[in-house]
Amino acid sequence: MATERTLSIIKPDATKRNLTGKINAKFEDAGLRIIAQKRIQLTKAQAGKFYEVHAERPFYDELCEFMASAPVVVQVLEGDNAIAKNRDVMGATNPADAAPGTVRAEFAESVGENSVHGSDAPETAAVEIAYFFSGLELVG
Ligand code: UDP
Ligand code: MG
Repeated sequence: MATERTLSIIKPDATKRNLTGKINAKFEDAGLRIIAQKRIQLTKAQAGKFYEVHAERPFYDELCEFMASAPVVVQVLEGDNAIAKNRDVMGATNPADAAPGTVRAEFAESVGENSVHGSDAPETAAVEIAYFFSGLELVG
């Protein structure tokens, strides 16, 4: 299996409820290494650029408002098959569909306020990591 890196975000609903440590424990228990991490406050414009691919979707404006509503923790996770593994740890987008034990099953409040983001493919992971981190900040 290939070692990969993926971009993870602990979203405002989770940072507000002090869940950063509990979510990070799930990543680490699954064998994902947190090789970079910072807590930042996004502007709505910065959130909008990050989620540009969803610009035509009906939930886009609400999503950008939400992502700028409180601090987020952006992080790079590294490990074997990290992109798919992180998606497994996260659970389905809608917490009602998320498997037991996943982050979203345990912590998400709704399909929008669903506690975590994770990249969905190698190409998007590379773009999303570069959006938040410089090469000097990535120490594997
Ligand atoms: N989202 C939403 N309503 C929807 C679908 C998605 O508010 O019907 C939000 C939700 O926060 C989700 C994000 O938009 O995590 C990005 O959607 P995507 O389909 O990429 O889901 P993800 O990759 O996060 O599981
Ligand atoms: Mg997605």
